[in-house]
Amino acid sequence: MAFESILYFLHKMAPLVPLQEQEIKLLRTPNRVLTAELTVSGRKYPAYRVQFNNARGPYKGGIRYHPDVDEDEVKSLGFWMTIKTAVLDVPFGGAKGGIAVDPKMLSPTELEELSRAYVQAFYHYLGPYQDIPAPDVYTTPQIMAWMLDEYEKITKTKAPAMITGKPLEQGGSKVRDIATALGGFYVLLEATQKRHLPAKTVAIQGLGNAGMNMAKLLHGQGFVIQALSDSQGGVYGKNGLDPRQAEESKKTGSVVGYGEQSSAAPKSDCRVITNEELLELPVDILVPAALSGVITKENAGNIKAKIVLELANGPTTPEADEILYQRNILVIPDILANAGGVTVSYFEWLQNLRQESWSEEEVRKQLRQKMITAFDRLWQEYAENNKENKFDLRTVAYIHALKRILEAERKHGRL
Ligand code: GLU
Repeated sequence: MAFESILYFLHKMAPLVPLQEQEIKLLRTPNRVLTAELTVSGRKYPAYRVQFNNARGPYKGGIRYHPDVDEDEVKSLGFWMTIKTAVLDVPFGGAKGGIAVDPKMLSPTELEELSRAYVQAFYHYLGPYQDIPAPDVYTTPQIMAWMLDEYEKITKTKAPAMITGKPLEQGGSKVRDIATALGGFYVLLEATQKRHLPAKTVAIQGLGNAGMNMAKLLHGQGFVIQALSDSQGGVYGKNGLDPRQAEESKKTGSVVGYGEQSSAAPKSDCRVITNEELLELPVDILVPAALSGVITKENAGNIKAKIVLELANGPTTPEADEILYQRNILVIPDILANAGGVTVSYFEWLQNLRQESWSEEEVRKQLRQKMITAFDRLWQEYAENNKENKFDLRTVAYIHALKRILEAERKHGRL
C-alpha cells in the first residue's frame, strides 16, 4: 500500500492518541533508507532496506522478493513493523527490506547469488543489536541461511542472532515456519469466543507460507475451508476443501487445478473462481493472506464475512476499513493478526543470544501467551469503546502502539 495512505491514517489518528505536529513528523519519518542495485547474471535488481524506527529496540523486519517491490512499499512495510512490534510488546523497532525481482525466474544459483549480494550491499547496517532481517513474501529459510553465511564470512564472526527464520540446523527456532499462521489462529479462536460467533466457514486468499498453514490449522480444528486461492486464481467447494490436496495441486502449478486431480472432492463439488470473487463469498471468516490493498472501497460493501483476519500486511485500504466498520464486520488487523511471525522471531533471537534451544511445546506456549495477552488487552478497550461505536480494533491497536513508541522516544530524549 502506498505510504500516502499511512500518512492519511496517521493524521486521522492524531486527535485520538493525541499527537502533536512534532510527534507526527517523527512517526512518519524513517530513520534510514538504504538502496542498492544488485547485479546477477548481467541483470540489475533494485534492493532496499528501510530502517524505520528503533526507539524500542533493534530494527526488525523481513525481506521481500517480489517484482512490485519499490521504496514506497518497503517504507510502508517498515512503518507497519514498527507498529507491530509495539502492539506485541516485543523489544524491537521496525524495518523492512526488499528486492524487485520475480524469484521464480531465477535459477537456484542465481537466487543464492542475489541473496548474498543483498548482504554485501547492506551488512554494515545489519547485526544482532542493529537490524535483524527475516523472511517475508517469497523468501525462505534457505535464503536466510545464505544471508547469514555471507554475513558471517564478511564480518568473520559467528552471529546467528543477526537474522531469524533460519533453518533449525543454523540456530532457527522450532515453530517459526508456521508462526505467522499459528499466531493468527490463536487470536481468531479467542475472537470467535469473545464474540460468541459460531464461525465455521472460511475463505483464504493466498497460499504462501501464512495462507497454507492457516488453511491446515483451521481444517484441523474442524472449520470448513470453502475457498482457497493463489496468484493464478482460486477454487470454491461448498462442502469444504482439503488443504493437503490443495498443496499437491500447487506443487504442479496452481490450486486452480484442485478439481482435476482431487480424490478428496468430486469435480462437480468444486468450481474455479477468481481472487476477486473469493473476497465476496458468503463465508463466516475471510482471511486475506496475500498482498496489500485487496479490500478496497469498491468491494468492501460486498464482503459477506463476519470476521476478516488480516494475515497479509495491509490488505484493507483505509476507505474500505471505514466501510467494514460501518457494516459491523470485525477486522482483526494485520499488526495483531500476523504478528506471530515476528513474535517467534523474537524467541529465535533470544535463543541465539542465550545459546538455548526451546522445545516445540515451549515455543507454542509462549507464542499463545503473547498473542492472547495482546489481543485481550486491545479487546477490553475495543469492547468499552464500541458501546459508543467509537473505535475499531485497528484504531485501538494503533493508539496503544503509538503511545508506546512515543514514550520510548521521549525517554531517549528525541522528543
Ligand atoms: N515478515 C514478517 C512480518 O511481516 C516477519 C518479520 C520478522 O520475523 O521479523 O511480520
